[in-house]
Amino acid sequence: MLRTSMHPRLRCAVGTVSRCISPRVRALGVAVRGSTHRSFSISSHIQMIPTTNSITRGFHRSLSTKVELTEEESEILNEERAVDYVDVCIVGAGPAGLATAIKLKQLDNEVGSGDLRVIVLEKASDFGSHIVSGAVIEPHALRELFPDSEHLTESNQIPLPEDLVTKVTKDSMNYLTESFAFPLPEPPQMHNADKNYIVSLNTVVKYLSEQAEELGVELYPGIAVEQLEYNEDKTAVTGVSTKDQGIDRSGRPKASFERGMQFQARVTVLGEGCHGSLTKQAISKFELRKNDEQTYGLGIKEVWEVKPENFEKGYVAHTMGYPLSADLYGGGFMYHFGDGLVAVGLVIGLDYKNPYVSPFQEFQRMKTHPFYKNYLEGGKCVSYAARALNEGGLQSVPQLYFPGGVIVGCSAGFVNVPKVKGTHTAIKSGILAAESIFDSVKELEAFDEDVAQAEVEEEVTPLTLESYQKAYENSWIYKELDEVRNVRPSFNSGLLFGLAHSGLSTFVTRGAEPWTLGHPHTDSAATEDASKYSPIEYPKPDGKLTFDLLTSVSRTGTYHDEDEPCHLRIPEQDSRKHAEVAYPKYKGIEQRFCPAGVYEYVEDEKEPLGVRFQINSQNCIHCKTCDIKVPTQDINWTVPEGGDGPKYYMT
Ligand SMILES: Cc1cc2nc3c(=O)[nH]c(=O)nc-3n(C[C@H](O)[C@H](O)[C@H](O)COP(=O)(O)OP(=O)(O)OC[C@H]3O[C@@H](n4cnc5c(N)ncnc54)[C@H](O)[C@@H]3O)c2cc1C
Ligand code: SF4
Repeated sequence: MLRTSMHPRLRCAVGTVSRCISPRVRALGVAVRGSTHRSFSISSHIQMIPTTNSITRGFHRSLSTKVELTEEESEILNEERAVDYVDVCIVGAGPAGLATAIKLKQLDNEVGSGDLRVIVLEKASDFGSHIVSGAVIEPHALRELFPDSEHLTESNQIPLPEDLVTKVTKDSMNYLTESFAFPLPEPPQMHNADKNYIVSLNTVVKYLSEQAEELGVELYPGIAVEQLEYNEDKTAVTGVSTKDQGIDRSGRPKASFERGMQFQARVTVLGEGCHGSLTKQAISKFELRKNDEQTYGLGIKEVWEVKPENFEKGYVAHTMGYPLSADLYGGGFMYHFGDGLVAVGLVIGLDYKNPYVSPFQEFQRMKTHPFYKNYLEGGKCVSYAARALNEGGLQSVPQLYFPGGVIVGCSAGFVNVPKVKGTHTAIKSGILAAESIFDSVKELEAFDEDVAQAEVEEEVTPLTLESYQKAYENSWIYKELDEVRNVRPSFNSGLLFGLAHSGLSTFVTRGAEPWTLGHPHTDSAATEDASKYSPIEYPKPDGKLTFDLLTSVSRTGTYHDEDEPCHLRIPEQDSRKHAEVAYPKYKGIEQRFCPAGVYEYVEDEKEPLGVRFQINSQNCIHCKTCDIKVPTQDINWTVPEGGDGPKYYMT
């Protein structure tokens, strides 16, 4: 129960979390609450603390009209946050975050007290509904996580229920010209047939969340984590704060306002996936990027129900070439899985120079190639999704630990680019992080308000998990990424050099070449002036095989309250200023790189440039491309209210 002395609004804030607890988790919380040493009840840990940022907040309207808040509104917005104390706070319920949570509770239940409080905070309203992947997955990391799974049999070598997986039966790799497909040799380490499995990663993540729940992990969906919390001298992370709910577009609290909570934790785990918004802060604050910049691709995909005669269960196809011009890095994929489903997608390197390129339109065009069209024609598109993925590889992995926390999975960037796979490495990194965290916390007292206070008074040094870094460097993740470290950057010198160099390094040297190619610039800096290029005429959609942007977005189930502050932050929220800086040089690149039609330059004679920059933030599907690619680097993707965003199906 909540303390009766709590401020009424604080009660609501706690309600924000408790309402989002799935009934099963609530039941679990009740079941474990009786444990003698530690309590699982959030409310029993909750304290009220003054806000860390008690200056008056001012939000801005989209055309830079600053809103003056009344004293009462300011007070409401800045009121105390409820605070809860947990041992480990994990941000993001992707494969990495959930593997961390599962391994931690497995260790705790097997060799610990069983009382370790591990929580996972996820911005999606349901587990898995923000996950986008291919996905062909390598099962060995999952086998390490669930060695005794009931689902492991002679015929099913992956510890997942058989109805969630399709074993790969056939591979192909082709180079596409405009009308033909030429088979290419596939490096042996990239074969999938008879060993890897096709899945919908969002359904697998849902399954993993259920496993975590059974082990005693506390899971909170619909909670967007907005900021890292620091100790007094700002040298260590002490936890996180979640996003306030119920603020209107102008920044005023609505009647439904609920203050976000603060979670104080011994260890904070960042498992936000590619280009996480908190991870970005941590990397910058603790100067974790000691090597190359991270580089990215944008993956766009659809899921189709195809005609039975076009379905080849277990078939995995990859393509290079058409529709991408030689100066664009990327490739297509098509995976036949489940009951007549085909996942089809295109990953395109975000280091493209020509601001007229539209990744969405390139993908639509790809489907018109006979190689894809022959499978999809007559079928029905049931789902659409897009998400950035890391392409920097080994050279771009930042330091994985900082005082008070660690980074796991794609937040760090463990994707094996030539394989287009990062799930197995994300899971393994979660396992390694969990082992390291457990070793550090297992002998410590349960973390509650008194212990936290005592540790501050005694100036106890925050946990710094260098052991996780060492474990990663000695793991198969490092070895695997090292072997392919030169493949992606070799394409920076052109398609032919890339093909030749990657042929050498994947077939012959297997990464033993004594050089490491770097990434010369960030993806945003790679963009060139529009004046060097001509606009690209993309074909009109036919509504059967190819679609327009808004029809595609309607297949993502995306929802954001129209009356909430825009989560896509530009300086002062001044659209005109952004247009003045960006439009003359890049001629509206934002409306082409965004795969959800969020950004628009609308013709408007009254504007000095003849166009008005508009942000339709309610369409956003959280792919993070704008934050990465915008050449002016003045768009900051921040979390919207928890529970907002896409509700992906089978992606
Ligand atoms: C198009 C595409 C195809 C791919 N194909 C394959 C493939 O075939 N095989 C393969 O193995 N890998 C593939 N990958 C890569 C794979 O999907 C990733 O490596 C994997 O999902 C990484 O897991 P993760 O847990 O690190 O991050 P994610 O899966 O991205 O999960 C992160 C989670 O954190 C949540 N989150 C983020 N920030 C916050 C916040 N501030 N507050 C609360 N919650 C937050 C997100 O909503 C999300 O649920 C593909 C990726 C893409 C985009
Ligand atoms: S606004 Fe940014 S994060 Fe949202 S869909 Fe568009 S590019 Fe992706």
